[in-house]
Amino acid sequence: SDSHFPVPISPHHVDYSLHFPQFFPSPNSDSDSDSRKIEFADIGCGFGGLLISLATLFPNTLMIGMELRDKVTEYVKERILALRISNPNQYQNVSVVRTNSMKYIPNYFSKSQLSKMFFLFPDPHFKEKNHRRRVISPFLLDEYAYVIKEGGIIYTITDVEELGEWMKSCLENHPLFEGLTDEELEADPVVKLLKCATEEGQKVERNGGQTFTAVFRRIAMK
Ligand code: SAM
Repeated sequence: SDSHFPVPISPHHVDYSLHFPQFFPSPNSDSDSDSRKIEFADIGCGFGGLLISLATLFPNTLMIGMELRDKVTEYVKERILALRISNPNQYQNVSVVRTNSMKYIPNYFSKSQLSKMFFLFPDPHFKEKNHRRRVISPFLLDEYAYVIKEGGIIYTITDVEELGEWMKSCLENHPLFEGLTDEELEADPVVKLLKCATEEGQKVERNGGQTFTAVFRRIAMK
């Protein structure tokens, strides 16, 4: 249950020195005095494949995975540590935290902090009564719109057609998000990673499954 993991009482209480020791050497090194903040969040990151790819593609951007399962989170921690050891000065910008993202996003990120959020192959929760457990919902999109800056992007992908339609329609119906054009999707190198960088994506590809992508930008209030 949630009582087994600590939750920072506000984004100012997130200990950056635990996650990014090379950038923040001591616990007292106040993340506020450094302009650097976490900018990318991979929600339900699983085994962390996307983050590992993004870490070298965006070496100066701090990024974090949020994962509910304890053992999976520990695995990702070990994976990042091993990569840091075998590649000095790389992977210092990537970390993971065990948390329930449906409850604690505002504890980790302040208003307009994030430039990218990822929801890759989230759990489908098929039954109608369980739709409220989906990580994309009208209610949670309000929260995501709060922590994503104007121009920031939400990336979603799934192999479950019904969930893909649900995520797309939630985003389309939200006043603070607009879909990227085909040209913009084509030009964004991150879009290409959605299908192939995560462990779940690779599984779907191996099985020749179809995927459904929705990528939306946070826009200004009209
Ligand atoms: N994104 C990864 C990928 O594409 O390989 C993992 C996909 S997996 C199907 C969904 C993940 O979301 C699981 O690892 C699960 O533990 C995690 N998850 C589910 N609900 C969550 C929540 N409320 N907060 C954080 N993670 C959650």
